[in-house]
Amino acid sequence: MTTVDHLRQVRLGNLRTVLLALVDRPGSRADLAARTGLTKATLSNLTEPLLANGILVEEPATLAGMGRPSKPLRFHPDGPVAVGAEINVSHLAVETIGLDGETLERRLVPADMRRATADEVLDRVAELIREVSGPRPLLGAGLAIPGVVHDGVVIRTPNLPNLVGVRLAEGLSRRTDLDVLLDNEANLAALAHLWPRHLAGEDFVHVTADVGIGAGVVLNGEVYRGVSGFAGELGHVVIERNGVLCTCGSRGCVERYAGLDVILREAGRRRLDSLCKALDAGDPKALEAVRNAGEALGVGLGTLMNLFDVPTVVLGGSYAVLYDHLHEAVQSEMDRRVLAGGERHTRLLASPLGEFAVVRGAAGLVTRRAVQQPERLFV
Ligand SMILES: [Zn+2]
Repeated sequence: MTTVDHLRQVRLGNLRTVLLALVDRPGSRADLAARTGLTKATLSNLTEPLLANGILVEEPATLAGMGRPSKPLRFHPDGPVAVGAEINVSHLAVETIGLDGETLERRLVPADMRRATADEVLDRVAELIREVSGPRPLLGAGLAIPGVVHDGVVIRTPNLPNLVGVRLAEGLSRRTDLDVLLDNEANLAALAHLWPRHLAGEDFVHVTADVGIGAGVVLNGEVYRGVSGFAGELGHVVIERNGVLCTCGSRGCVERYAGLDVILREAGRRRLDSLCKALDAGDPKALEAVRNAGEALGVGLGTLMNLFDVPTVVLGGSYAVLYDHLHEAVQSEMDRRVLAGGERHTRLLASPLGEFAVVRGAAGLVTRRAVQQPERLFV
C-alpha cells in the first residue's frame, strides 16, 4: 500500500467513526471529538465535506454552561435516504429511512403473492418504491424475501416458488435505477434490532412466525448467515425424532408445532386478530394452542441457546403479538434446557418494531453500508 492509499484509508476510517457517533446522537464538534477520541482539528477537517455535500447540517448555536456556545451537528433533514422493500406471501411493504434511522414514509399493502410471476412482483415493488420516494437522494434499496438467498439469487422460497432462481436484486435495480441489496427477511428483521439502535444487545436470536418460522442469529453485533445463507433455520430444528412430517422432508421440526398456521388450526381460528380476541376472552382451546406452541418453541430455542450461548431471545412478528400468552411457556422450557441458564436467566423480549421490522432492516442494510463505507456518500 502506498502512503497516499494509507492516508486515504485512515481518513475513511475516521469518517466512519464520526458518522457512527452521529448515528448514536447529534453532537457539537467538541462533543464528537470527546466521543471519538479524534482531535478537534481532525474533526473539523472530516465534517467539512459532509456539511458541504448536504449530508450533515449545523444547528443554531445553543448556550451550554459557561463555555462558548456549541453548534450541534446532525444529519441533514434533506440529506440522503435509503428505501427498504419486503416481498411477503401475503403483503408487500416499503419504508424510507434517513441515515439517523428516522422513518420518513412507509406502506404495507396486503397482496397474495403466491402465484405472481417474478416480473409482476418486481413491477409492484418498483411502483411502491416510486410512491414513497421523495425529493431526497436515494442511497439504494434493500430487498427482503422469505427465503434463502445466496449471491443475489433466491435459492429456496417454498411459499413463493416463482421466485426461485431469479436474480431479484438485478431485476429491481433495472426497474428503479437503484443499487439493490437482497437478503432473507429473518436476517433483516434481526438487523432492524441492531441498527441503527441496539434494541437487544449485541448477541441475540430474533424469531418470528409467519407461514414458516424465521430466526436471525446475531453474534458480536453481526447477523450470522452461515456459509451458504442457511444459518438460523430454527423452524427445521428437530424436536421430536419421529414426529410430524414437515414440508422440508424431515420429521418433528419446530415449525410443525409452533408455526402460526399450526397455532391457528389448533385454536380453531383463521386469523391472528380473531385468535387474539379468543385469547383475551380466555378461550381454553386458544390458550392451549398458544401454550403448546410456546413449549415447542422453547425446546427449539433451548437447542439454539446451547449451541450459541446467546443471552437474549427477541420474539417478533406474530410472536410479539402473542407475547403475553406465549412467553411463560417459552421461558420455562428454556430455563429447563439451557445449560447456561444455571448461571444466568435467558432474557426474553417482545420486539417493539411491529410489522415493519423487516422493511426497517432492509433499509438499514443500505444506511449501515453507507456509514461503514463513507465513500459511498460522496458519489
Ligand atoms: Zn422441516
